[in-house]
Amino acid sequence: LNDNSYLQKQKNYESNARSYPRKFPIAIQKAKGYFIMDTEGQVFMDCLGGAGSLALGHNHPVIKKAIQKSIANDSALLTLDITSPIKDEFVKTLFGVLPQELRENAKIQFCSPCGTDAVEAAIKLVKIATGRSTIFSFSGSYHGMTNGALAITGNKSIKTQIPNLMSDVVFLPFPYHYRCPFGVGGLEAEKLSLHYIENILKDSHSGVGLPAAFILEAVQGEGGVIPASPFWLKGIREITKKYDIPLIVDEVQAGMGRTGHMFAFEESGIIPDVCVLSKAVGGSLPLSVIVYQKYLDKWQPGSHAGTFRGNQLAMATGTAVIKYITENSLVDNSRQKGNYLRNELLKLQQKYPFIGEIRGRGLMIGVEIVDTNESPNALGSYPPNTKLAAQIQRSCLHNGLIIESGGRENSVLRLLTPLNISEKNADDILYAFENALISIN
Ligand code: PMP
Repeated sequence: LNDNSYLQKQKNYESNARSYPRKFPIAIQKAKGYFIMDTEGQVFMDCLGGAGSLALGHNHPVIKKAIQKSIANDSALLTLDITSPIKDEFVKTLFGVLPQELRENAKIQFCSPCGTDAVEAAIKLVKIATGRSTIFSFSGSYHGMTNGALAITGNKSIKTQIPNLMSDVVFLPFPYHYRCPFGVGGLEAEKLSLHYIENILKDSHSGVGLPAAFILEAVQGEGGVIPASPFWLKGIREITKKYDIPLIVDEVQAGMGRTGHMFAFEESGIIPDVCVLSKAVGGSLPLSVIVYQKYLDKWQPGSHAGTFRGNQLAMATGTAVIKYITENSLVDNSRQKGNYLRNELLKLQQKYPFIGEIRGRGLMIGVEIVDTNESPNALGSYPPNTKLAAQIQRSCLHNGLIIESGGRENSVLRLLTPLNISEKNADDILYAFENALISIN
């Protein structure tokens, strides 16, 4: 891969190239499964997976079939929020995979088809339902790019240039053990976090009233693939119940089997009041919904409108992909192949000390790259190494592997493969990844 020629080619494309093209200076010609072919005929393994949207990779036969069938039948393309057999089947299929306690009381709102809009809908819903305004969110979280969703995103660097974002937000510490803000690790840190959070609610001098909701990701994605433990999630659920506060779980990235559970919150057994879904829920076409408990339903007609919330093709592909995931036990495959990949990556960590931590659940995997030339903190964790992570990411590309990066300091390499990968696919990824490490060493 000749970087200069690629960068030059990139410039020849009229499309706005600001973000991902800097990391991946290629032009994509076609894609199938987890393979991408560029315009030069070079093939890459795609572990970026549409930022976690491609549960079955690109152009899976069931996705093609659903689109072809829909078009061959002259099914409506866009119905706003008018119902249709395609929409009905999608709702039934999605509700069929919800945990029973949520399914029995669930209502659904279709949103303009991206995660951000669904987060906005969730914020509005809890504000209307509770009559309160503040949202409690968490450090390192990512919820989207619009005024409200960005305001509740726990990443200062992408907000500082924007004055007057929604202001009623309180950020609480997320249990990121590798860099624990309390200077202790494990269960002790989680107990402290829960204690601190409850204290804010019960102490009349904390200066904060009851919020309209808590919002969290059960596994933070953009924040660096940081899973919250079942103990901590249960603790948050208990606190929110005790103080009558709705809990929104943002499953935009972690949902639909990605973490080895259909929904990431299921590992802990908690049931949220609002569940936000997008990315994989549309079977790789744009779709987003919130599923929420009936008691919150104080919307008036038109409370959350949006032209493209009736995208029938995405509902058809969403149904096909959810069915395929369940019929082919891909949630289990996600857990098994995720464990396999993490175990193999742990072996690489023994060889390459700059791999600070391997994290994740199922096929949502993070590899934190650290600087061992600096001193470790009290917990033995080294500082993040943003530069080296970027070098490895580029080296991966040269070795035929497209992988995502993220985390608070952009020092976490992230794998978001399709859920249907085989062990052989996993081995190929590991082989390319180690070659990438060897070539920068
Ligand atoms: N929430 C989470 C947890 C996400 O990971 C993302 C996207 N990365 C969003 C919300 C926003 O989704 P979208 O980019 O589709 O607006």
